[in-house]
Amino acid sequence: MTPNKEDYLKMIFELNGTYKKVSNKEIVSGLKVSAASVSEMMTKLVKGGYITYTPYQGVQLTETGIAEASILIRKHRLWEVFLVEKLGYSWSEVHEEAELLEHVTSSTLSERLDAFLGFPEKCPHGDMIPKGTVVVDETVTYPLSALEVGQKACLYKVMDEKELLDYLIELDMHIGESFTLLSIGSYEGPIKIQKENCEIVHISQKAAQHLFVERLA
Ligand SMILES: [Zn+2]
Repeated sequence: MTPNKEDYLKMIFELNGTYKKVSNKEIVSGLKVSAASVSEMMTKLVKGGYITYTPYQGVQLTETGIAEASILIRKHRLWEVFLVEKLGYSWSEVHEEAELLEHVTSSTLSERLDAFLGFPEKCPHGDMIPKGTVVVDETVTYPLSALEVGQKACLYKVMDEKELLDYLIELDMHIGESFTLLSIGSYEGPIKIQKENCEIVHISQKAAQHLFVERLA
């Protein structure tokens, strides 16, 4: 499936294009498309008033662009909640389904879905579900790989990446889980943490870069 206009807007949004400039290169690797397709689409999006383009720096979403992307992301994340909570999907299985459903969801359906789910604030991966067009999550988070030994932290959100999510299921790690960092293996070795139930878990450096945590006192 070739990504359409909405997928591009969503990708720019996810690359933080709401407040900073996103390079074509980041979009190329995010959507796994050619540089030529990206520049072609960027021209269209500038014309449509969805993004602004600054030479050598990249693109940033306009208010219209943010509104469009938020609507889509909202539908995507609501479906993720539905699939996990109501249909028993695991959090590593929902992305693909939500990717398809978001494009065929009317605004009435997404409002009904929101109410049916009890107005959830976050998707299963810990990301905020935009309300209206406002997305504000001011919680300060750090990659787990940036913590020091002895630090207590809580898993706040994770990258929505199938392999990573499957790995976390294996380790039995969940959003909201608190733990203490016990040691960091030398030579970029695994990070050893202790969960509240005293269980010890080893997390690879690669995964630790994609897990975002909140520091606890
Ligand atoms: Zn998600």
